[in-house]
Amino acid sequence: CGIVGYIGSKDAAELLLNGLERLEYRGYDSAGVAVLNGGLWVHKQKGSVSKLKDALFDSNHSLQGATLGIGHTRWATHGDPSDRNAHPHLSSDGSIALIHNGIIENYSSIKKELVSKGYQFSSDTDSEVLVHLIDSIWVDNPNMGLEAAVRSALYHVEGAYGLCIISEREPDKIVVARKGSPLVIGIGDGEYFIASDAAPIVEHTKKVIYLSDGEMAVVSKDGYIIKTIENIAREKHVSELDF
Ligand code: GLU
Repeated sequence: CGIVGYIGSKDAAELLLNGLERLEYRGYDSAGVAVLNGGLWVHKQKGSVSKLKDALFDSNHSLQGATLGIGHTRWATHGDPSDRNAHPHLSSDGSIALIHNGIIENYSSIKKELVSKGYQFSSDTDSEVLVHLIDSIWVDNPNMGLEAAVRSALYHVEGAYGLCIISEREPDKIVVARKGSPLVIGIGDGEYFIASDAAPIVEHTKKVIYLSDGEMAVVSKDGYIIKTIENIAREKHVSELDF
């Protein structure tokens, strides 16, 4: 139901959790974050963002010092609200994390194919097929890279999505994609914010790009590249938020 992402030089976990609180008005049943901090670290659970915050501060948490991450609030469509169904979802080797808003209509046929290849699922969501599909394409084509693996996976997908994907195999970027679920990129000074709407971004920057349906972006600390899912470059207008 809500997506946030951050890449820059500030403490990502804090920015992500605050961002998720700004999206609480949309309604949700679970929340989670993933950051790259040497390795990929994920914390997700049923319940409120403030409960997630408490859990993170109680644990001697591995999120501290990370400067890149993604966060999600879930409104369950497939699979009950629970810790295991909360996003982010991970690839089996724990190297890719994905958050998803929307519904993957053809998830059961994709899941069947992945299970026959030996993939094991750890949630009942439609979303989890995406992370294993990306992983399987990348494993089959090791030189492909994260962006191309995501693009290639999306060719197989029917439905609606706002997506953010990060991987410790390419720890300097966030790959995002949108079809039917809104996504906004906030442009800061050496930092970028991603969110489902401008609410979590406006306190950080007034400069935003609204992704259109069928567009993908690769966001790094030094900039962003926006293309269609078919890999055609896009020049995007930078809007000024007026608050
Ligand atoms: N369909 C996904 C799920 O049930 C995502 C729901 C959402 O948009 O929060 O986990």
